[in-house]
Amino acid sequence: MPETATHSTGSDPNCIFCKIAAGTIPCHKIYEDTNVLAFLDIGPIVRGHTLVIPKRHTVNYLDCPPEIAAGIAQVMPRLCRAVVAATGAKACHVLVNNGPEAMQSVMHLHQHILPRFDGDHFHLPWPAQKLDSGEAAEIAAALRECLKA
Ligand code: 5GP
Ligand code: ZN
Repeated sequence: MPETATHSTGSDPNCIFCKIAAGTIPCHKIYEDTNVLAFLDIGPIVRGHTLVIPKRHTVNYLDCPPEIAAGIAQVMPRLCRAVVAATGAKACHVLVNNGPEAMQSVMHLHQHILPRFDGDHFHLPWPAQKLDSGEAAEIAAALRECLKA
């Protein structure tokens, strides 16, 4: 398969986060290394809402080579601890939206770090249901089958 411009250059000229990574659009940067950039979200859900992106363009985890995922994973514990410490939070979420149906609006992989405070107003719906054992066996088998590929 021929390489797209995006994959050959590692950047998409129409992508806002590629422009932030290249420094052509400003951000409130909090961390940078060769592979990763972290900066404040322009529309914070809570104080200290931070985004962590790979500098190389990749759409999301459904598209992401393992070495890009590894670069992010390497710094996430340190970044989470810094966000929690700097904001005086007690805890944090790490959240990735993968695809528009999962609320992804910027099509460049990013991890949200969302610090949580006593009495904050952020509510994450979590409508847990009981796992049906028949259905669980079926979906677990389907997942194991996909992972063989
Ligand atoms: P998503 O819905 O794709 O998971 O989240 C995208 C996030 O990127 C949103 O929280 C949005 O506020 C943030 N965002 C979009 N454009 C910019 C920008 O130009 N600068 C910064 N710092 N954040 C942005
Ligand atoms: Zn990009």
